[in-house]
Parts: sequence; structure tokens; C-alpha cells
Amino acid sequence: MHPAIVTLLASSAAATASALGVLPLVGRARVPERWIGWANALAGGMMFGTAFALGAVEGEAAVPAAIGTLVGILFIAWTHAATGTEDLSLNRLGETGPEYGYRVALVQTLHAGSEGIAIGAAMTVDLPFGLFTAATMAVHNIPEVTVLAAVQRSRSVSLATAALTGVATNVPQVFVAVATYAIVSAAPGTLSWVLGLATGMLANLVLVELLPESYRQAGHTSIAVVASAALAMVALLIGWVG
Ligand SMILES: [Zn+2]
Repeated sequence: MHPAIVTLLASSAAATASALGVLPLVGRARVPERWIGWANALAGGMMFGTAFALGAVEGEAAVPAAIGTLVGILFIAWTHAATGTEDLSLNRLGETGPEYGYRVALVQTLHAGSEGIAIGAAMTVDLPFGLFTAATMAVHNIPEVTVLAAVQRSRSVSLATAALTGVATNVPQVFVAVATYAIVSAAPGTLSWVLGLATGMLANLVLVELLPESYRQAGHTSIAVVASAALAMVALLIGWVG
């Protein structure tokens, strides 16, 4: 199978898997706030682990990777500033303003696009690494959609709609992954830049979107334990895959 098709299928599977995130909400309209914190810590730790794996790819040229990382960090800071979402708290339960919903959806869509760059770049390194990155992103998408679904359920949105919205916000992951794969395989000299870009973006997203509120929701200790364990698990598994 052509690697571009594998990229399409793997990133589509990662986006679709996110629908499983509604499962903790079956039979309940609300989940305890600490669950939201732990879901974000789990998603954040896995994303940190993926950023680590992308940054540690063998043969990466140091200077382009470092510049790419810096650009990735600045790009995320700029998109938050440009969309007025730099200090948006992403999981305010019971918030019913329509504008809040749009802004959260916008942030999730941009977030998924950054993850698409990670999947596409990893696919150009080699197939096992690409599939590993797509699988990590797939599992990571699940707790992210739990958080998104919890926000929606607190606004009386149905479970089915919450699942569909979760998948929809992850669709950019698919397009961006395929486009990144196509660009980097056509111009292999860009690989180190793009790996650096994805590393910076992912690390920044964890710190600005996933972790800040989680500490308040579930306590410093449990968030640190969940996020570190998830990071370590991904870092250990990548050593085994690579
Ligand atoms: Zn994510």
C-alpha cells in the first residue's frame, strides 16, 4: 500500500477513535471535575511523549530542527493571540454562551491540525514510526474528546452530537497529515524543519491548552503523576518500536 494511503487511513482512524471519548459520559449528564483534569493530563502526557519522540529522530539536522521548534512554539502563540483564545479556559462546564462554544471548537480544530503535522512528518521517517505516532495520537484524542464532550453535555448537547463534534474537530488531523506527508516526501530536505516544527507545536499545546486548568481540577500531585506516567510510557514504547 502506498504510504500516502497509509497516512490517510491511519490519521482517519485516529480522528474516528476520538468518538470513544464520550464513553465516560454514557448514562450521566456530568462527570466529576477531577475526571476532566485527569483526561487532560493523560492527553497532555502522551502529547509530550510524542513531542519527545519527534525531537529525537535519528539523523535529524540540529540547526533546522531547533529553528523549526522555535517557529512551532511561536506559531501556536500567534494563533492563540490572533484568534483571541490565548487565555481561554477550555473546559468551563455549564458555560452556555454560543461564542464560547465556537472559540473552543476553533481551538480544537487548530490543535488537531498541529497533530496532523506530527503524523505526516512521522510517516516520512518510516512506517513503524508513522504508525506509532498515529496510534499515540488516536489514544490521546480519546481523553481530549471526553473533555470536549463533558463541556457539551453540560450545555445539554446529546451524546451522539458530542461524539460527532469530537470526530469533526479531529478531521483537520487527516488533511494536514496527508498534506505534510506529500510535501515532506516531495522535498526530503524539509524533514528536520518539519519534525522540529511539530515538536515545538505539540510541547507548547500541552502547556498552554491541556495542563493549566487540570491542576485546579484534580490537584497538583495527581496531575503530575498521570502526565508523567503517560509521557514515560510513550517514551519507553518509542524506544521499543524504534
Ligand atoms: Zn491533542
